[in-house]
Amino acid sequence: MNDECLFCGIRDKKIPSEIVYEDEHCLVFKDIHPQAPVHLLLVPRKHIASIADLEAGDEKTVGHLIKVAKEIAAQKKLTGYKLQFNVGKDGGQIIFHLHLHLLGGFNL
Ligand code: AMP
Ligand code: ZN
Repeated sequence: MNDECLFCGIRDKKIPSEIVYEDEHCLVFKDIHPQAPVHLLLVPRKHIASIADLEAGDEKTVGHLIKVAKEIAAQKKLTGYKLQFNVGKDGGQIIFHLHLHLLGGFNL
């Protein structure tokens, strides 16, 4: 939990976003600056700063994000897609609440 965190704010509905999926472990919303025809962010409810900050047990949360990404991609009939974690400032991470980018629809 982090009062300053944008994605905690989206999770808590204090900041508006276009949420496309939610469950007890994660939420999924549209990236505000899409880099592909479909660009979604999969975000755990638990505030974890980045992949580099994973603690014991968090691998279940990360695995869940990948499973949900696969299901959403299938629902959207994406024939191929990219899943990306940016890790740390030097890895291009800007928001320090772990998130998985789902990029697809390149063939649309
Ligand atoms: P990263 O560089 O991996 O930290 O990616 C952060 C992503 O969050 C970028 O692709 C931004 O476009 C996206 N982003 C920033 N602010 C918002 C917001 N309020 N709602 C949705 N996406 C956002
Ligand atoms: Zn957060």
